[in-house]
Amino acid sequence: MAIEFQKDFEEEEERIVTSSLTREDDAEASLRPRKLEDYVGQQKVKENLSVFIEAARMRGEALDHVLLYGPPGLGKTTLAGIIAGEMGVNIRITSGPAIEKAGDLAALLTNLNENDVLFIDEIHRLNRSVEEVLYPAMEDFALDIIIGKGPAARSIRLDLPKFTLIGATTRAGQLTSPLRDRFGMLLRLEMYSAQELMQIVQRSAGILEVAIEEEGALEIAMRSRGTPRIANRILKRVRDFAQVKGQGVITKQVANTALNALEIDQLGLDSIDRRMLESIIYNFRGGPVGLDTLAATIGEEAVTLEDVYEPYLMQIGFLTRTPRGRCVTKRAYDHLQIPFMGQQELTL
Ligand code: ADP
Repeated sequence: MAIEFQKDFEEEEERIVTSSLTREDDAEASLRPRKLEDYVGQQKVKENLSVFIEAARMRGEALDHVLLYGPPGLGKTTLAGIIAGEMGVNIRITSGPAIEKAGDLAALLTNLNENDVLFIDEIHRLNRSVEEVLYPAMEDFALDIIIGKGPAARSIRLDLPKFTLIGATTRAGQLTSPLRDRFGMLLRLEMYSAQELMQIVQRSAGILEVAIEEEGALEIAMRSRGTPRIANRILKRVRDFAQVKGQGVITKQVANTALNALEIDQLGLDSIDRRMLESIIYNFRGGPVGLDTLAATIGEEAVTLEDVYEPYLMQIGFLTRTPRGRCVTKRAYDHLQIPFMGQQELTL
């Protein structure tokens, strides 16, 4: 299976618990499972997919287009690679922002082989003119090309090989409806349980050839925000501690010492999460506060807050989203050891 990789790294400050791709994850490919059976968790998605893959294979056809959505680092790219592998076809990987012009997409599409997979990460960031080329490509496997200008312009239709588009996005709601409607399957990835992450950590430790005790793996799992990418990244850092300060084995104690040194707390929160929660508590009396106001206060972009920070804080019940803005819950006050006086409304 040939994999072409063309993906932009997120430019952001060094943050271990970020679920976005950073330069440090350069070697991530080695930890990526290649078979569906090695892909931990996401039971429902796997069950659905294996039926569709089996059926498409039996018919000798390309798999229907698939949209994968969920927060970063949950395994969308990995799953796309696995789908291509199971179908026995090549995958070409690109991302929405990397396709600047309609011509770029046309070049990608015309270079595909029959039944190949085209993976477009961050598909919600495709620009309008590119997206319009995608519609007939997805629906009729055709490219409409305009030749000439003005009254002499005419459109010719070029046939494309049958292919499978796998799109990935952090939120399906960000997609335009004409694009969303052209996917045959919409699959939502869920955050992983500690048990599942533990399995992933143990598997990765095996590949990285570092000894790990079960309790050490659990410690890392519990502090990885339900996200495999973060679990793998923490594992690599903890491995350094085990080599330098321990006996080369990741025990619960080594993991604990390393995570404390990295300022990642028992629930996987780091200083940026704490700053965000404290900002709502101290500046906005626990909320509600609008996303943009909050973003400006802590100097982050609103989309980063929404895609990267919030999903986990909401998952663990620290943050709620109301029509009037974000609110911090009592549970978060308790975790941060700040006395809770009851939610107070801001008087304007
Ligand atoms: P996304 O595309 O959703 O941002 P990736 O597919 O790049 O996420 O996954 C990030 C890393 O997490 C991969 O390197 C892979 O090793 C690991 N990973 C993700 N999902 C799983 C899984 N279900 N089982 C094992 N490892 C996983």
